[in-house]
Amino acid sequence: MSTLEANKEEKTQSLSKPVKIAVANGDGIGPEIMEATLRILNAAGANIEPDYIELGEKVYLSGNTSGVEDSSWEAINTNKVIFKAPITTPQGKGYKSLNVTLRKSLGLFANVRPVQALTPFVPSHFPDMDVVVVRENEEDLYAGIEHRQTQDVYQCLKLITRPGCERIVRYAFEYAKACGRKKVTCMLKDNIMKITDGLFHKVFDEIAIEYPEINSETQIIDIGAARLAAKPENYDVIVTSNLYGDIISDIAAEIGGSVGMCGSANIGKNVAMFEAIHGSAPDIAGKNIANPSGLINAAISMLVHIGQADVGDKIKNAWLKTLEEGYHTADIFREAVSVEKLGTKAFADRVIANL
Ligand code: NAD
Repeated sequence: MSTLEANKEEKTQSLSKPVKIAVANGDGIGPEIMEATLRILNAAGANIEPDYIELGEKVYLSGNTSGVEDSSWEAINTNKVIFKAPITTPQGKGYKSLNVTLRKSLGLFANVRPVQALTPFVPSHFPDMDVVVVRENEEDLYAGIEHRQTQDVYQCLKLITRPGCERIVRYAFEYAKACGRKKVTCMLKDNIMKITDGLFHKVFDEIAIEYPEINSETQIIDIGAARLAAKPENYDVIVTSNLYGDIISDIAAEIGGSVGMCGSANIGKNVAMFEAIHGSAPDIAGKNIANPSGLINAAISMLVHIGQADVGDKIKNAWLKTLEEGYHTADIFREAVSVEKLGTKAFADRVIANL
């Protein structure tokens, strides 16, 4: 058998063998949007096999303080891809964020959050917006070094390392290069945090020199966030540390249309996790009104990651057609442009009909 034939046979075999994915249904609106998205993936012919894992609230309530069953860790480490709906984390008390645990335990150092305006069919004040936030995902104030010093004094330490900065800044430039993007903007507060944010800035300048074909600039995060909210079309790729990235990616998503529209990829050396950028939205859980688009977009990125980009394109086109036809969930419904307000299930049905 020639090498060409052997490659062809190997490709055919791998195409017919489903890719096992660890799937977590999550909390709040999680199970509703996951059900809708998996139906779309199935109808589009995605060659995947969900391996369901239990994470979050239910696991904590069963007495497991890590929030992750041992069998779930096993499934994650074997499959190397997680498709996850949002998980509830109590505010100001209770158990540690499971999202942070997953990102840190699995070394998911880069959180990639694209936001593209879809005007005119999804109203946004910024029709030319097309921004990707690349957020450092393991360090900074999310490192979990937080304690009480005295009765009235509490401390949270900001951890920034040179290897962490190098990895995320290089990832942002490599992402820009691979995706034909023209500019990387670094956002920091190094006028105040001169040592920690100062190191990030220094590393950014060092690495930017290696990519002369890509424009680079740095902005102080407060004015950067304000400019992003006023003129998002001036931004292309933004690289920043964990907390700033969390905040500005939500701002970007909301001004791009809705926080319910955007998906994200959490990339590590061995494992990748795909999820919506939004949370478990307890205020609308169980009502069949959540927008599944964030998780659909996460699924499209996941398909690219596992070598099924053609199925991802098919889903993206059907999703865009559904939005263009004016079938909108409540969060993006506007009398002037929408034709019908659909619930989560009906929206997924329309996407499937458009496949
Ligand atoms: P949220 O993103 O859940 O909700 C913010 C607002 O946006 C709410 O009004 C909600 O109804 C709306 N919204 C969010 N997603 C939507 C969708 N798909 N369709 C329509 N509307 C949508 O943020 P929150 O209320 O601050 O957090 C709720 C919980 O989610 C918290 O426990 C938080 O810790 C958790 N959370 C989890 C993740 C994750 O799992 N990756 C991320 C962020 C927040």
